[in-house]
Amino acid sequence: MVDLQIVARLISDEPTIAAMRAVPRHEFVPADYVDQAYNDNPLPIGHGQTISQPYIVALMTQALGVAPGDKVLEIGTGSGYQAAVLAEMGVEVYTIEIIEALATAADTRLHLLGYDVATLHGDGYFGWEEHAPFDAIVVTAAPDHLPQLLVDQLAPGGRLVIPIGPIGAVQTLWRFEVGDDGEVTGENLGAVRFVPFTRSEG
Ligand code: SAH
Repeated sequence: MVDLQIVARLISDEPTIAAMRAVPRHEFVPADYVDQAYNDNPLPIGHGQTISQPYIVALMTQALGVAPGDKVLEIGTGSGYQAAVLAEMGVEVYTIEIIEALATAADTRLHLLGYDVATLHGDGYFGWEEHAPFDAIVVTAAPDHLPQLLVDQLAPGGRLVIPIGPIGAVQTLWRFEVGDDGEVTGENLGAVRFVPFTRSEG
């Protein structure tokens, strides 16, 4: 999977590549899909959600530019796969999932596999103030605008990787970086298609 889908597509960040070789992706997909776990596409994980395509996980992980010891927030735990890739890189991972059943299942799975990740059931729109600031934030569902609270929870030099665009259509993957002077700059990483970013009621 890593050689054909990731290295061949010019993902060059060695820590990202090593982490994706190490994490057992088949542990993160439902039993019916285990034989497809290493294929070049997203897969259903129940509740209308998906585990992202391996290449997209690699692209986003590389864009986060993390180093061991960094504190990283993920919005959209899903299966827990992206969180595991980050944990494998020696990062302190916090992850929020809005669907309780997925949050609980991912928390159990991550700990059984030995990944020390903090999982929260909630609406990631508000970030996780208690643990802020973060060196990097990755959002794996697509909102139609940039949630300012997430930008506010980035440390100086912090990076935010997030798909933004209309629901059910093609979105743009953005990489934002906060300069030491607090100025935010954005870079377009290309067209992607993610599940919608949903909001808790009330
Ligand atoms: N990173 C996941 C991909 C999951 S798909 C993985 O590696 O498997 C995106 C997930 O975002 C879905 O599980 C969806 O329920 C969740 N999500 C959508 N809106 C959210 C929100 N406002 N807060 C937290 N999670 C959200």
